[in-house]
Amino acid sequence: MQTAVRQHARSWRAAIRGWPVWELPRWISGFVLAVIAADVAAIGVAATFITFRPGNVVLFLFMIAFGAVSIELARRQGEPAGYIQITYSVWNLAIAILLPPLYALLAPIFSQVLIQWRVRRGLVYRRSFSAAAVGLSYGAASVVFHAILPGIGWRVPGLGTHALAWVLLVVVCGVVQWAVNSALVVTAVRGAEPTASVRQMIFNREGLFNDLAELCTAVVFAFIAASDAMLVTVTLPFVILLQRSGRHAELTHASRIDAKTGLLNAVTWQREAAVQVTRAVRTHTPLAVAMLDLDHFKVVNDTHGHLTGDLALAAVADALRSGLRDYDVAGRFGGEEFAILLPQTDHGEAIHIAERLREQVAALTIPVRGDSAEGHPLRLTVSIGIAALNGSRRDLDDLLAAADHALYQAKESGRNMVCVVSDTSAAGHQAPRSAGEGEL
Ligand code: GH3
Ligand code: MG
Ligand code: MG
Repeated sequence: MQTAVRQHARSWRAAIRGWPVWELPRWISGFVLAVIAADVAAIGVAATFITFRPGNVVLFLFMIAFGAVSIELARRQGEPAGYIQITYSVWNLAIAILLPPLYALLAPIFSQVLIQWRVRRGLVYRRSFSAAAVGLSYGAASVVFHAILPGIGWRVPGLGTHALAWVLLVVVCGVVQWAVNSALVVTAVRGAEPTASVRQMIFNREGLFNDLAELCTAVVFAFIAASDAMLVTVTLPFVILLQRSGRHAELTHASRIDAKTGLLNAVTWQREAAVQVTRAVRTHTPLAVAMLDLDHFKVVNDTHGHLTGDLALAAVADALRSGLRDYDVAGRFGGEEFAILLPQTDHGEAIHIAERLREQVAALTIPVRGDSAEGHPLRLTVSIGIAALNGSRRDLDDLLAAADHALYQAKESGRNMVCVVSDTSAAGHQAPRSAGEGEL
């Protein structure tokens, strides 16, 4: 009997030792476990103070069910982030305000279990940490609300100054929640990835906007629910609408942008370029097109792998973006080919711009995985073909064919150079003009 117990204990210890949380640096695994333990302790303490009221339990279950519906509706979009996350958690503040702290501590456990089960299997310690960090932050908001509430009177928002004071108090609670959650998450992420930037994690524009939108929506929901608990039911369609409109914006973005480089994708570039070419022809303004193709890119993939190749594509895209004017239109045309539309640009200016881009790409140093500090980072070159509007080239297809021809000439003439289809040549004859190696 005793041996069986000992064996059991040994296998438990072995299982616990195998938890992925121990793979983190020691202090950070300690921090994660401490936050989870603090949450469990807070739940224990809050439970001893509570008197169960059926009305509270029903309201809690309603708001948990709404959160579950919004998770279920957004399930196909994967791990919650940005506005989707907002739609999961907007009821949590109402829970913290209207109900005793125990409910605020418990609510995130339900949503994390549902996300783990229905959306994506993640590491259990991460889910538990999220549930604990979110729970503790709403728990803190709930404690602050209930501690300050007697100072402003009734629990239900009244009219005039009382409503204002009530809303202000709820906003303060929302800010407390945000600060506690952010501090816990930033500490954990910084511990696991010391190079992660706090500014990028918390103080980026998109993130702050989402947090502000979440706070405002949550305050409105808390106000509605506090005025009359029955009214909470009308908030669900609002959240579904919010999810749909956000999804629409995301899909529109995804259908225009090439995910690897952030430039326009080929279809969108061609559509936007065709409109501009038509306008330029109608208004007799100059316009040029440049086609770019990275040199010997296959060798980059073969030598350093596709992941480094992808990093190189993104770095080239960044160089193009920074080297172009606001009104130029850059797109990823194919694998390692880019197309650039240069409005208000004649032949000569286009050569200057292309030459600048060629130099910027040649100056890039792309770190290669596993390289030591004194190792050689990856260098790239690009060949560029240019064509400008003229009497015989009057639509996008003509321009692209001519730029492609010039690009072919640049490749044939040794790569890392700019070639342009000559305007002085007779119709149909296209002579390359080399601008490589410093000569123009
Ligand atoms: P050239 O100087 O003649 O252009 O030689 P090249 O090797 O660049 O030309 P080629 O067209 O033979 O090869 C293009 C390579 O680009 C082949 C392909 O593996 C790579 N490529 C295309 N798309 C991607 C991508 O999205 N990521 C990565 N890493 N490589 C890509
Ligand atoms: Mg190519
Ligand atoms: Mg190439």
